[in-house]
Amino acid sequence: MNTLIFFLRDTPIWILVLCILAENVFILVGAVLVGEGLARLYASHRVTEAAAPLTSLEIMLASTTVLLNSLVTLGGLFLWRADFIHFRMDSGWAVLLDFLVLVLVMDVAMYVLHRLAHVPLFFKMVHRTHHLYDNPRPLTLFVMNPVEALSFGLLWLTLLCIYDATWVGMSLYLVSNVAFGLIGHIGVEPFPERWKTTPILKYISTSSFHAGHHQDGDHNFGFYTLIWDRVFGTL
Ligand SMILES: [Zn+2]
Ligand SMILES: [Zn+2]
Repeated sequence: MNTLIFFLRDTPIWILVLCILAENVFILVGAVLVGEGLARLYASHRVTEAAAPLTSLEIMLASTTVLLNSLVTLGGLFLWRADFIHFRMDSGWAVLLDFLVLVLVMDVAMYVLHRLAHVPLFFKMVHRTHHLYDNPRPLTLFVMNPVEALSFGLLWLTLLCIYDATWVGMSLYLVSNVAFGLIGHIGVEPFPERWKTTPILKYISTSSFHAGHHQDGDHNFGFYTLIWDRVFGTL
Protein backbone atom coordinates (compact mmCIF):
# COMPACT_ATOMS: atom_id res chain seq x y z
CA MET A 1 0.00 0.00 0.00
CA ASN A 2 2.84 2.40 0.90
CA THR A 3 4.46 1.79 -2.50
CA LEU A 4 1.21 2.81 -4.20
CA ILE A 5 0.92 5.94 -2.04
CA PHE A 6 4.52 6.99 -2.85
CA PHE A 7 3.87 6.29 -6.53
CA LEU A 8 0.73 8.48 -6.55
CA ARG A 9 2.47 11.23 -4.59
CA ASP A 10 5.83 11.41 -6.37
CA THR A 11 5.25 10.38 -9.99
CA PRO A 12 5.10 13.16 -12.61
CA ILE A 13 1.53 14.07 -13.52
CA TRP A 14 1.82 13.19 -17.22
CA ILE A 15 2.71 9.59 -16.34
CA LEU A 16 -0.20 9.42 -13.89
CA VAL A 17 -2.56 10.80 -16.56
CA LEU A 18 -1.56 7.93 -18.85
CA CYS A 19 -1.97 5.41 -16.01
CA ILE A 20 -5.41 6.80 -15.12
CA LEU A 21 -6.53 6.68 -18.76
CA ALA A 22 -5.27 3.10 -19.09
CA GLU A 23 -7.04 2.18 -15.83
CA ASN A 24 -10.37 3.56 -17.05
CA VAL A 25 -10.07 1.90 -20.46
CA PHE A 26 -9.23 -1.35 -18.65
CA ILE A 27 -12.36 -0.97 -16.48
CA LEU A 28 -14.56 -0.47 -19.57
CA VAL A 29 -13.06 -3.36 -21.53
CA GLY A 30 -13.04 -5.66 -18.48
CA ALA A 31 -16.65 -4.80 -17.60
CA VAL A 32 -17.87 -5.33 -21.16
CA LEU A 33 -16.05 -8.69 -21.45
CA VAL A 34 -17.36 -9.95 -18.08
CA GLY A 35 -20.86 -8.62 -18.91
CA GLU A 36 -20.96 -10.28 -22.34
CA GLY A 37 -19.73 -13.52 -20.73
CA LEU A 38 -22.53 -13.38 -18.12
CA ALA A 39 -25.10 -12.54 -20.82
CA ARG A 40 -24.09 -15.69 -22.69
CA LEU A 41 -23.90 -17.85 -19.57
CA TYR A 42 -27.40 -16.86 -18.44
CA ALA A 43 -28.91 -16.52 -21.93
CA SER A 44 -31.93 -18.56 -20.82
CA HIS A 45 -32.73 -15.98 -18.07
CA ARG A 46 -33.29 -12.90 -20.23
CA VAL A 47 -35.03 -9.96 -18.52
CA THR A 48 -34.99 -7.59 -21.52
CA GLU A 49 -35.15 -8.00 -25.27
CA ALA A 50 -31.78 -8.37 -26.98
CA ALA A 51 -30.09 -4.98 -27.57
CA ALA A 52 -30.37 -3.33 -30.98
CA PRO A 53 -27.21 -3.42 -33.15
CA LEU A 54 -24.38 -1.30 -31.72
CA THR A 55 -24.25 2.27 -33.06
CA SER A 56 -21.35 4.69 -33.41
CA LEU A 57 -23.20 7.09 -31.04
CA GLU A 58 -23.04 4.49 -28.24
CA ILE A 59 -19.31 4.01 -28.80
CA MET A 60 -18.77 7.79 -28.81
CA LEU A 61 -20.78 8.31 -25.60
CA ALA A 62 -19.02 5.41 -23.83
CA SER A 63 -15.61 6.80 -24.88
CA THR A 64 -16.60 10.23 -23.56
CA THR A 65 -17.60 8.65 -20.23
CA VAL A 66 -14.19 6.95 -20.01
CA LEU A 67 -12.48 10.32 -20.61
CA LEU A 68 -14.67 12.05 -18.01
CA ASN A 69 -14.16 9.27 -15.46
CA SER A 70 -10.41 9.70 -16.02
CA LEU A 71 -10.80 13.44 -15.45
CA VAL A 72 -12.68 12.78 -12.19
CA THR A 73 -9.96 10.32 -11.08
CA LEU A 74 -7.33 12.95 -11.87
CA GLY A 75 -9.36 15.54 -9.93
CA GLY A 76 -9.41 13.13 -6.98
CA LEU A 77 -5.63 12.74 -7.22
CA PHE A 78 -5.13 16.54 -7.17
CA LEU A 79 -7.54 16.91 -4.23
CA TRP A 80 -5.63 14.19 -2.35
CA ARG A 81 -2.26 15.78 -3.10
CA ALA A 82 -3.64 19.17 -2.00
CA ASP A 83 -4.83 17.62 1.30
CA PHE A 84 -8.56 18.05 0.66
CA ILE A 85 -9.06 14.26 0.53
CA HIS A 86 -7.62 12.03 3.25
CA PHE A 87 -7.50 8.26 3.45
CA ARG A 88 -7.27 6.11 6.56
CA MET A 89 -5.07 3.03 6.78
CA ASP A 90 -7.33 0.99 9.14
CA SER A 91 -8.08 -2.64 8.39
CA GLY A 92 -10.54 -5.27 9.64
CA TRP A 93 -14.02 -4.21 10.76
CA ALA A 94 -13.29 -0.54 10.03
CA VAL A 95 -13.06 -1.43 6.33
CA LEU A 96 -16.40 -3.22 6.33
CA LEU A 97 -18.07 -0.35 8.17
CA ASP A 98 -16.46 2.13 5.82
CA PHE A 99 -17.63 0.21 2.76
CA LEU A 100 -21.20 0.15 4.11
CA VAL A 101 -21.11 3.92 4.80
CA LEU A 102 -19.88 4.68 1.26
CA VAL A 103 -22.45 2.37 -0.35
CA LEU A 104 -25.38 3.68 1.69
CA VAL A 105 -24.51 7.39 1.38
CA MET A 106 -23.90 7.12 -2.38
CA ASP A 107 -27.05 5.01 -2.71
CA VAL A 108 -29.32 7.65 -1.18
CA ALA A 109 -27.58 10.52 -3.01
CA MET A 110 -27.81 8.76 -6.36
CA TYR A 111 -31.45 7.84 -5.71
CA VAL A 112 -32.21 11.56 -5.24
CA LEU A 113 -30.18 12.54 -8.33
CA HIS A 114 -31.87 9.82 -10.39
CA ARG A 115 -35.35 11.02 -9.33
CA LEU A 116 -34.36 14.55 -10.31
CA ALA A 117 -33.02 13.25 -13.63
CA HIS A 118 -36.54 12.01 -14.40
CA VAL A 119 -38.11 15.47 -13.92
CA PRO A 120 -39.26 16.12 -17.55
CA LEU A 121 -36.97 19.12 -18.13
CA PHE A 122 -33.80 17.37 -16.85
CA PHE A 123 -34.84 14.12 -18.52
CA LYS A 124 -35.07 15.82 -21.92
CA MET A 125 -31.78 17.67 -21.44
CA VAL A 126 -29.66 14.94 -19.86
CA HIS A 127 -30.98 11.54 -18.77
CA ARG A 128 -32.90 10.70 -21.98
CA THR A 129 -29.57 9.73 -23.58
CA HIS A 130 -29.16 6.73 -21.27
CA HIS A 131 -32.81 5.74 -21.75
CA LEU A 132 -32.42 5.65 -25.53
CA TYR A 133 -31.01 2.18 -24.82
CA ASP A 134 -33.78 0.56 -22.79
CA ASN A 135 -32.80 -2.88 -24.04
CA PRO A 136 -29.31 -2.52 -22.59
CA ARG A 137 -26.06 -4.33 -23.25
CA PRO A 138 -23.04 -4.25 -20.87
CA LEU A 139 -21.62 -1.21 -22.68
CA THR A 140 -24.84 0.72 -21.82
CA LEU A 141 -23.42 1.17 -18.30
CA PHE A 142 -21.07 3.75 -19.87
CA VAL A 143 -23.55 5.19 -22.37
CA MET A 144 -24.89 8.42 -20.88
CA ASN A 145 -24.93 12.17 -21.32
CA PRO A 146 -21.53 13.67 -20.36
CA VAL A 147 -23.29 15.91 -17.80
CA GLU A 148 -24.54 12.79 -16.04
CA ALA A 149 -21.11 11.15 -16.01
CA LEU A 150 -19.62 14.30 -14.49
CA SER A 151 -22.40 14.65 -11.91
CA PHE A 152 -21.76 11.14 -10.57
CA GLY A 153 -18.03 11.84 -10.46
CA LEU A 154 -18.43 15.17 -8.65
CA LEU A 155 -20.82 13.61 -6.15
CA TRP A 156 -18.20 10.94 -5.40
CA LEU A 157 -15.37 13.47 -5.00
CA THR A 158 -17.57 15.61 -2.72
CA LEU A 159 -18.20 12.61 -0.47
CA LEU A 160 -14.46 11.82 -0.35
CA CYS A 161 -13.74 15.45 0.66
CA ILE A 162 -16.26 15.19 3.51
CA TYR A 163 -15.64 11.62 4.66
CA ASP A 164 -12.17 10.20 5.35
CA ALA A 165 -12.49 6.69 3.94
CA THR A 166 -10.00 3.83 4.26
CA TRP A 167 -8.01 2.94 1.14
CA VAL A 168 -9.43 -0.57 1.15
CA GLY A 169 -13.02 0.54 1.83
CA MET A 170 -12.84 3.05 -1.02
CA SER A 171 -11.38 0.44 -3.39
CA LEU A 172 -14.06 -2.10 -2.46
CA TYR A 173 -16.74 0.51 -3.06
CA LEU A 174 -15.33 1.36 -6.52
CA VAL A 175 -15.19 -2.30 -7.56
CA SER A 176 -18.77 -2.84 -6.29
CA ASN A 177 -19.94 0.27 -8.11
CA VAL A 178 -18.83 -1.16 -11.46
CA ALA A 179 -20.18 -4.61 -10.56
CA PHE A 180 -23.66 -3.28 -9.63
CA GLY A 181 -23.77 -1.01 -12.69
CA LEU A 182 -22.78 -3.89 -14.91
CA ILE A 183 -25.30 -6.35 -13.46
CA GLY A 184 -28.05 -3.79 -14.14
CA HIS A 185 -27.24 -3.69 -17.85
CA ILE A 186 -26.48 -7.27 -18.90
CA GLY A 187 -30.09 -7.99 -19.89
CA VAL A 188 -30.12 -11.38 -18.08
CA GLU A 189 -30.69 -12.29 -14.42
CA PRO A 190 -27.82 -14.26 -12.89
CA PHE A 191 -29.33 -14.28 -9.38
CA PRO A 192 -31.83 -16.94 -8.27
CA GLU A 193 -35.50 -16.03 -7.92
CA ARG A 194 -35.45 -16.84 -4.17
CA TRP A 195 -33.25 -13.75 -3.54
CA LYS A 196 -36.41 -11.66 -3.82
CA THR A 197 -37.80 -13.25 -0.65
CA THR A 198 -34.56 -13.79 1.33
CA PRO A 199 -33.98 -11.34 4.22
CA ILE A 200 -31.30 -8.68 3.46
CA LEU A 201 -30.71 -10.06 -0.06
CA LYS A 202 -34.16 -8.84 -1.10
CA TYR A 203 -32.92 -5.27 -0.53
CA ILE A 204 -29.99 -5.66 -2.93
CA SER A 205 -30.30 -4.44 -6.51
CA THR A 206 -30.43 -7.13 -9.21
CA SER A 207 -30.38 -7.18 -12.98
CA SER A 208 -34.18 -7.44 -13.27
CA PHE A 209 -34.54 -4.51 -10.84
CA HIS A 210 -32.66 -2.05 -13.09
CA ALA A 211 -34.07 -3.67 -16.24
CA GLY A 212 -37.47 -2.86 -14.69
CA HIS A 213 -36.45 0.81 -14.53
CA HIS A 214 -35.51 0.78 -18.21
CA GLN A 215 -38.97 -0.59 -19.04
CA ASP A 216 -40.86 1.75 -16.67
CA GLY A 217 -39.10 5.05 -15.91
CA ASP A 218 -41.40 5.88 -12.96
CA HIS A 219 -40.05 3.06 -10.77
CA ASN A 220 -36.84 1.41 -9.50
CA PHE A 221 -34.57 4.46 -9.21
CA GLY A 222 -32.09 2.84 -6.78
CA PHE A 223 -28.56 1.76 -7.71
CA TYR A 224 -27.21 -0.59 -5.06
CA THR A 225 -30.24 -1.22 -2.88
CA LEU A 226 -34.04 -1.20 -3.05
CA ILE A 227 -34.25 0.62 0.30
CA TRP A 228 -35.12 4.09 -1.00
CA ASP A 229 -37.57 2.80 -3.58
CA ARG A 230 -39.34 0.95 -0.74
CA VAL A 231 -39.25 4.04 1.53
CA PHE A 232 -40.55 6.41 -1.14
CA GLY A 233 -43.02 4.01 -2.78
CA THR A 234 -41.30 3.79 -6.19
CA LEU A 235 -40.56 0.06 -6.19
ZN1 LIG B 1 -29.46 1.99 -16.88
ZN1 LIG C 1 -33.43 6.58 -15.30
